[in-house]
Amino acid sequence: MSKEYEVVIGLEVHVELNTKTKIFCGCSTEFGGEPNTHVCPVCSGMPGSLPVLNKGVVEKAIGVGLATHCEITRNSKFDRKNYFYPDNPQNYQISQLYYPICRNGYVAITDADGNEKHVRIHEIHMEEDAGKLVHDAFTDETYVDFNRSGVPLIEIVSEPDMRSADEVIAYLEGLRETIQYLDASDCKLNEGSMRADVNLSIREKGSEEFGTRTESKNLNSFRAIRRCIENEVNRQIDLLESGEKVVQETRRWDDEKGFSYPMRSKEDAQDYRYFPDPDLVPIQVSEEWISEIRDRQPEMRAEKIIRYKEEYQLPEYDIDQLTKEKRLADLFEGAVGAGADPKKASNWLMTETMRLMKETSTDAADLKFSAENLAELIRLVDTKEINGAVAKEVFEKAVFSENLSPAQYVKDNNLSTRADDGVLAEVVEKAIAANPKAVEDVKNGKGKAVGAIVGYVMKEMKGKCDPATVNRMISEKLK
Ligand code: ADP
Ligand code: MG
Ligand code: ZN
Repeated sequence: MSKEYEVVIGLEVHVELNTKTKIFCGCSTEFGGEPNTHVCPVCSGMPGSLPVLNKGVVEKAIGVGLATHCEITRNSKFDRKNYFYPDNPQNYQISQLYYPICRNGYVAITDADGNEKHVRIHEIHMEEDAGKLVHDAFTDETYVDFNRSGVPLIEIVSEPDMRSADEVIAYLEGLRETIQYLDASDCKLNEGSMRADVNLSIREKGSEEFGTRTESKNLNSFRAIRRCIENEVNRQIDLLESGEKVVQETRRWDDEKGFSYPMRSKEDAQDYRYFPDPDLVPIQVSEEWISEIRDRQPEMRAEKIIRYKEEYQLPEYDIDQLTKEKRLADLFEGAVGAGADPKKASNWLMTETMRLMKETSTDAADLKFSAENLAELIRLVDTKEINGAVAKEVFEKAVFSENLSPAQYVKDNNLSTRADDGVLAEVVEKAIAANPKAVEDVKNGKGKAVGAIVGYVMKEMKGKCDPATVNRMISEKLK
């Protein structure tokens, strides 16, 4: 009979901070520029160049630490992690080993039994990102792009507190939500602004000791993380069941092929020869500075949920959906600020927006349209300028995909129901003349028969009119 096992997981999560400039120089951190256009002597590792710490990076790191219940280190400093790799021009990475900026925090998640569970954070430290190697398969040459070199990172190291893939995803979602609300990063796994390494081991249920762990890298979606965990759990259990040992090693997950392979074992683990960076002074964090940062923290999700209930009287489901992603909450508040009814704004975001997001695989953070254009669309419906069906079309074609002004789009494409009031009256006349049987029935008290006449009008108008208005016009004529 096979034994009962328990999965033990700890995560190392790298998050790129969204400061305008890099951590030790004034170069732009923007993603996607032409290769090597955001570089200078500091971030391309020229001898004799000197790093200067970006204060904004420290403030964002402390902000994340406060939001995850960490202690803030009053005397923090940077260390050099030495290694040789073409994407690392200095031949060392500036990181924090001995005195990380934050320690001993947690992220609250809900476990499988529905109870609150704290996944503890061991530390959060600041460091610089490396450049990117670009391999050209045609010429079989490798190029290096230093735009990313020196982009600020925080590494959030958890304790080995997670016990399933679900808990891992809940922890990562909690972190992402917190960091997005803080406006410290967009946390996009597919673009690498959030990257998670999964440390995983197996032990017999009830055992006090941890088993030997592996570390899985190259996980760029929640789906990949879940599949990698399931695969690694099975792989380790198979090894143990067949009397073999798990080897402590770093493994690379290939999500397309659905399996992992070893990258390097503990034996060939490098000695990074850490030492304090002599080019940077220690960071002293005063009580005042911490309170300043605390006072400036934006409204977090839990606070928003309470406020939305009081201020907008929305159903709990709406509030949950709207606040799940900061971008949706921002759009909601913006639309209401621009005059939209809260429930109507919420409906557009929860139904059409989410449907189109799913259809086009768009992340909330990448939504293009403005709150003003959403409010304008709602106004067009409120004033009966367009009907519901046309509004959906305008939302999809103009607002969601292009962020165009819906009023302008309605005008340009002649979609208004109002503009055609005169035409509509004529069509109603025509419809009555063309449907004598239905007219007869209506006059004899068969109210439902009016549907045929309304349908005729809608068809003639190619849907560009409000059925309720048409109904009313016909009823008046037949009185
Ligand atoms: P290292 O110094 O080798 O990087 P750490 O002690 O810093 O190791 O741990 C790295 C990550 O691995 C942490 O997130 C930690 O929670 C996790 N971890 C450590 N031991 C185990 C284990 N036996 N099983 C699962 N995860 C582990
Ligand atoms: Mg480590
Ligand atoms: Zn630079």
